[in-house]
Amino acid sequence: MPSELVIVYHRQPYEEVEVDGTIEYRANKSPNGIVPTLKSFFGKVENAAWVAWKEAEDTSNPGFDRVINIEDSFGKYTVYRLPLTGAQVKSFYHVTSKEAFWPILHGFKEKYNYDPVDWPTFKEVNWAFAEAAAAEAAPGASVWVHDYNLWLVPGYLRQMRPDVRISFYHHTPFPAADMFNVLPWRGEIIDSLLACDVVGFHIPRYASNFVSCVRSVHDVGNVPRRPVEPDMISEGSALSDRTVPTEIRTEERTVQLGVTPVGVDVDYIKRLAESDTTAKLAERFRDEIGETRVLLSVGRTDYTKGGADQLLAFERLLERRPDLRGVVRLLHVSVPANRAMTVYEPIQKELEEIAGRINGRFGTFTFQPVALISRAVPFDELVAWYQVADVAWITPLADGMNLVCKEYVAARTDGDGVVVLSEFAGAAVEMGAAVLANPFSTRSMDYAIDMALDMPEEERRARIALLRTSVEKRDTQHWAADQLALLSPADFGSESQESEIA
Ligand code: UDP
Repeated sequence: MPSELVIVYHRQPYEEVEVDGTIEYRANKSPNGIVPTLKSFFGKVENAAWVAWKEAEDTSNPGFDRVINIEDSFGKYTVYRLPLTGAQVKSFYHVTSKEAFWPILHGFKEKYNYDPVDWPTFKEVNWAFAEAAAAEAAPGASVWVHDYNLWLVPGYLRQMRPDVRISFYHHTPFPAADMFNVLPWRGEIIDSLLACDVVGFHIPRYASNFVSCVRSVHDVGNVPRRPVEPDMISEGSALSDRTVPTEIRTEERTVQLGVTPVGVDVDYIKRLAESDTTAKLAERFRDEIGETRVLLSVGRTDYTKGGADQLLAFERLLERRPDLRGVVRLLHVSVPANRAMTVYEPIQKELEEIAGRINGRFGTFTFQPVALISRAVPFDELVAWYQVADVAWITPLADGMNLVCKEYVAARTDGDGVVVLSEFAGAAVEMGAAVLANPFSTRSMDYAIDMALDMPEEERRARIALLRTSVEKRDTQHWAADQLALLSPADFGSESQESEIA
């Protein structure tokens, strides 16, 4: 059945579990992600579809149905499983996307690796995604494509289906032309994005950067701008802008620029935080750590996350302030990437080395200042840790948004806690009430962590209350409603206030 709303996202919208030889489709383990939010919009249209890949040895005879119909708590929808070989997935995702695009998106030219890129395979995979979306879309349908690994989908889809509306959302930063133009495929990528009706970003700066990249390839004339809402500007933060571009006019169409930060499911986190199970878990953790003050850092093992710089800042803290030795602990959760991505191995080694050195220097038989956790912590456990931690210490070198800091705020239903946040995380533009730190400056990092640890309770509560207001205002529903209102005003327009400003 052709669908009015087609979501193209590389992951499937459920987890496949084999039970007694049959496959069951279960809700994703992390219910706090964008997948459930996107699925919640399926209920608003008659027919909806989701396009994702699924690994197959032989793509012409994959051994599974390409199209399946799912019925779950979100309603009925179709899932198109695009068969890709392991080699195709490695090439388009683990190599081209992660080794060439990812460093450039985050401003790490020196990590950019051109040599292993197989561009024809990237194009072939993106073409196949576009064909799948074209097959599922009803006349005039809205197609929402997600993330840089599918950058060429809009251009191909426009060739196949001039009738559909297309939106593309970036879940990462978007760099300015000086950085983006390192990619030799820049013209192809920009032209594909200009085939969209809407191109979406987390924050105004990324939209401005996109305009600079477009301008380096085409003369698009005057680009209108509007003022940024005051609660999306944090004074003094590196990523704040005062105005934001609203649209790019080409000969073919007007491309709207949609700026909406991804949020977290505040209601869900609040319910989880206030549940008896979380209370018991948090109590157990508190008993285990005793009187110690806890700094909590959560992220993936990635050079963008600045894990080593943070551990070094912690080492300096213990050097500088002997009064804190034996009193403060750092729980550093660093989740390793997929094993197929070997570029992350040296980072893991570096984290282990620094954490080991700190524990060797400042630990005792009964007290280790750093707990380095190199595995994923289940979300319900994480929420209990959020409640126990005195400080959420989140200092990436570059981060499109960062959800951990928002989750921490949502989980602090007791109204206490401190967030130390990098000014290079997209979230910093909304979270000016956090203690903002520049992770490239040792002085700024040292000052921020001292300030967080010494902050009086009254100030902690005042700041977290402000942060809660912003996290509640821009939750996941707000993000999806705002972006969908731009994509298909007739179906979703009434949901959004902000899109009217543009
Ligand atoms: N997360 C988790 N367990 C962990 C570490 C992280 O469930 O051990 C989740 C975390 O709650 C958050 C997500 O992973 O929802 C990380 O998102 P973020 O935007 O902070 O970083 P990204 O990994 O997308 O760059």
